[in-house]
Amino acid sequence: MTAIRIDGKAFAAKLRERVGESALEFAQAAGRKPGLAVVLIGDDPASQIYVGSKGKATLAANMESFTHRLPTETSQGVLLALVEQLNNDDAVDGILVQLPLPGHLDEQSIIASISPDKDVDGFHVINAGRLSVGQSGFVPCTPLGCMMLLTDRLGDLSGLEAVVVGRSNIVGKPMAQLLLDANATVTIAHSRTKDLASVVKRADIVVAAVGRPEMIGKDWLKGGATIIDVGINRLPPEPGKEKGKLVGDVAFDEASEVAAAITPVPGGVGPMTIAVLLRNTLVAAHRNAGLDVPEHL
Ligand code: NDP
Repeated sequence: MTAIRIDGKAFAAKLRERVGESALEFAQAAGRKPGLAVVLIGDDPASQIYVGSKGKATLAANMESFTHRLPTETSQGVLLALVEQLNNDDAVDGILVQLPLPGHLDEQSIIASISPDKDVDGFHVINAGRLSVGQSGFVPCTPLGCMMLLTDRLGDLSGLEAVVVGRSNIVGKPMAQLLLDANATVTIAHSRTKDLASVVKRADIVVAAVGRPEMIGKDWLKGGATIIDVGINRLPPEPGKEKGKLVGDVAFDEASEVAAAITPVPGGVGPMTIAVLLRNTLVAAHRNAGLDVPEHL
């Protein structure tokens, strides 16, 4: 079998287009554009790139982008005051504080200070709670993007065996919750799981969110499984090259020999994250303006 390559890049481009069109309709109905505020503390190069591309994607989706860049030494008090100002700003529908924060800042209390109705990252405990009891809130962008790819590929997930490898609050746990809500039979595996290979081998759906390059090989997989690879790992550079290759947590080529479908890295889950962030911002805008959220979002 040669697995179908799940094209997250193309799916994300279509989602961004839909969001862009709906944002124009929103602006007509509400008299303003949806707005996303992104707060970046410090000069971490990867975070600078993420924040830059989020800003560009927001503008391209016909939304307002407000970027706040603060120095590394910014105090907790100053950051909390900025979040409060954004919470009270009617032009801002979504607030994202780029993580990780410098070590002297308390990540949990900063996230807790964001209004849950503007928490488009879905990291606030209120939104985690809403997800776990089945109320509508905001779901973290990466697992929601994975879920969109899975339902697009498989349709109804009822009764399928799903194994999520990884139990972080931003990927593994919400992913498992979404799969459960879709009536899959869900196992969450992690670093203490015994005989991980045979646990993964049971799965019709494997979601790998670990951060270990090509950890899952073809021997771990059930024939015909659908694989969503969240991992982003950079291998050491080959001689003469400046940068190493990006790979996922799954050995793509060999897994493709047994799986039915698989996301590549890059070009799979990665592009979905920003697209879903824009989608969540537009949903927030509709809710904040008292308008119905369009169904196709
Ligand atoms: P975390 O480091 O927070 O969590 C990793 C999880 O993997 C933990 O639950 C850990 O278990 C588990 N784990 C570690 N080693 C093993 C092992 N040997 N066997 C089984 N489980 C193991 O990572 P994140 O959830 O934040 O991210 C996971 C990956 O996804 C990373 O590569 C990250 O770069 C990528 N990512 C990609 C995104 C995208 O947009 N595509 C967005 C977010 C993340 P334990 O809890 O026991 O320690």
